[in-house]
Amino acid sequence: TDQLPDLVIVGAGLFGLTIAERCAEELGLRVLILERRHHLGGNAYSERDPETNVEVHKYGAHLFHTSNERVWEYANRFTSFTDYRHKVFGKYQGQVYSLPLNLALINQFFGKSHTPDEARALIAEQSAEFDTASATNLEEKAISLIGRPLYEAFIKGYTGKQWQTDPTELSADIITRLPVRYTFQNGWFSDTYEGLPVDGYTAWLTRMADHPNIEVRLETDFFEVADDYKGKVPIIYTGPVDEYFGNSEGRLSWRTVDLEESVVDTDDFQGTGVVNYNDQDVPYTRIIEFKHFHPEREKTHLPGKSVIVHEYSRFAEEGDEPYYPVNTADDRAKLIKYRELAKAEPMVLFGGRLGTYKYLDMHMAIGAALSMYDNKLKPHFTEGAELTSGGIDA
Ligand code: FAD
Ligand code: UDP
Repeated sequence: TDQLPDLVIVGAGLFGLTIAERCAEELGLRVLILERRHHLGGNAYSERDPETNVEVHKYGAHLFHTSNERVWEYANRFTSFTDYRHKVFGKYQGQVYSLPLNLALINQFFGKSHTPDEARALIAEQSAEFDTASATNLEEKAISLIGRPLYEAFIKGYTGKQWQTDPTELSADIITRLPVRYTFQNGWFSDTYEGLPVDGYTAWLTRMADHPNIEVRLETDFFEVADDYKGKVPIIYTGPVDEYFGNSEGRLSWRTVDLEESVVDTDDFQGTGVVNYNDQDVPYTRIIEFKHFHPEREKTHLPGKSVIVHEYSRFAEEGDEPYYPVNTADDRAKLIKYRELAKAEPMVLFGGRLGTYKYLDMHMAIGAALSMYDNKLKPHFTEGAELTSGGIDA
């Protein structure tokens, strides 16, 4: 009955929205986005808590940062960003330290002042047992970067809680995201641009889809309507790749996070947005206090109250939200098989965090979508180039 759209996108997260916006705005295509949740935005979705008026990131704290000029310029078409600079503190054995590993932490942890050169010499001595280039797992890599005492205090327990896997069995790449600084600079990110969307994530993401050629159909599971579109129009699929193929090669493993939200009767619970709990025996990994992400909104927040979230990490089971790819050797073997299947799937491209089974930050999801648009979709729709996935790699 309905006329077929030019393009169907499964998933209204940042990847799907970027593809939709480019195809509608630049190519004038009619785009249909199918989203199974009751809202768009994917995991970056947020809403104001009605009691306190504090913006809560419903799928975990989302901090935007990028060094990619094109992504920054693109994001700024839909929102302005505040000058928020993310900082993280870590609690260990009753003391609070300034993360990431920096001169303040080294001085405090070892109980004496070090110049940058003295700190480098100390860490060089403590990290000599492993060489970074040849480290084969997370534990070796971390020790090679920061030495055993700091590893045992700040990484071992936290990583064990977050991954429920011994750090010797985890991939060394997980830790490349943790900078080590021999200065007092304690910004969590090292990117050129950083900030939070001035009027919230949902306003930003809604504007991306606000185009007469884009229809977003919420609470619609692609698998229930797939026959209407498969083989008839190009499909960009950003859901879990294993689910697309009916888990035929086995399920890929994911970690999920239980987010326990509560409103506490205080103006200020912890004085900052994020405190990590580095002791192994504290069951949660961190506490988020959302109002600190927007100090410029202080007057709009209900006084005497604050919204906090305790995060607990665990392996995802059926029905849980898949958050972080676990990426064991077994998963990688399955992924190779899914990539082969994807290559053979006509008129379907796989993208985004779930579709490629890759941890992507928001700027990476946008960047990958812009590349897919440039390299695959635009040539297909403007020059008739064949639409092939070439494997799952946006
Ligand atoms: P998603 O946002 O996951 O969107 C996919 C969408 O597809 C979902 O809405 C889903 O409901 C839908 N879908 C799936 N299957 C179907 C189906 N069968 N039918 C219809 N719809 C379907 N990034 C940062 O840059 N900074 C951060 O601080 C940050 N923090 C994060 C914290 C957590 C806990 C997590 C999990 C991620 C974080 N990220 C962060 C990453 C960020 O969430 C991702 O970059 C972004 O979500 C990727 O967008 P996406 O479109 O690929 O996937
Ligand atoms: N990590 C750690 N201690 C910390 C913070 C991070 O050991 O205090 C390690 C841990 O293995 C984690 C990884 O660094 O999985 C990445 O941390 P990040 O906070 O960037 O992860 P995310 O916010 O994505 O959960």
